[in-house]
Amino acid sequence: MKTGEILRGPAAHADVRGRTTGSGRRAAEYMRSLSRIPLGNPGRCPQRPSLFVVVSDDSGSVCGGNDPLGHRYDEIAYALRKVGARCSCHQELVSIIHFDVPTDADVPATTLDRRHLHAVLEGLRVPSHAASSNLGPALDAAYRVAAHHPAHQAILLAATDFELFDPDVDAVLNRLVQFPGAVHALVLNADPPPILARYPNVTTSRVDPYSSIGTTARNVFATITANRRGALPTPAGGPQPMSFPESSTATR
Ligand SMILES: [Zn+2]
Repeated sequence: MKTGEILRGPAAHADVRGRTTGSGRRAAEYMRSLSRIPLGNPGRCPQRPSLFVVVSDDSGSVCGGNDPLGHRYDEIAYALRKVGARCSCHQELVSIIHFDVPTDADVPATTLDRRHLHAVLEGLRVPSHAASSNLGPALDAAYRVAAHHPAHQAILLAATDFELFDPDVDAVLNRLVQFPGAVHALVLNADPPPILARYPNVTTSRVDPYSSIGTTARNVFATITANRRGALPTPAGGPQPMSFPESSTATR
């Protein structure tokens, strides 16, 4: 499947319209089905500014099989649209960082509101040149983004199968769980590293070939509404409530 071609959000929707065969039709059918999945109430804008950082693995193991539904970007985009449509504070930022950072699909911290939603969703695709299985560089970039927005409550979504080739995987995982904010590990068709369960600010959800459509969207929606007032996400059967570390001010 040409993921970069069909996972671009609204524009891609138009691209596939009219096709009657192949992956385009399946993608359109998927989007129609996904759009009928209720995610819950996104609530009202948070009291404190927020920063949602997506770190995404586009390596061969993910794009070649461990991204079980093949639609993680569609699902994340669906959740972001639901929140973006309800943001009036202009203080909810989203940044998207790919493992191969810097890439043509990275998105700097951008306001998640109607005006900027398209720019945010542009990052939810496989970059032109994607190969890295190293979490470290993207995580470093996520730390830098958080450090540039110390007043924002940070939430990190790490979408990966954790088949990591970093020189020191343990060190990278330690850095992941110590991120200055809440962490959601979206584990793609794999068992989560045990260290994730030991940190209260880390939520883990897993999707596999048996996960139903909308599972990722619901998990992500629960995460990005964690600090919104009165939000009532529909449970996906996966994530526990998010919790933030005592001090979620970026230190680096
Ligand atoms: Zn808002």
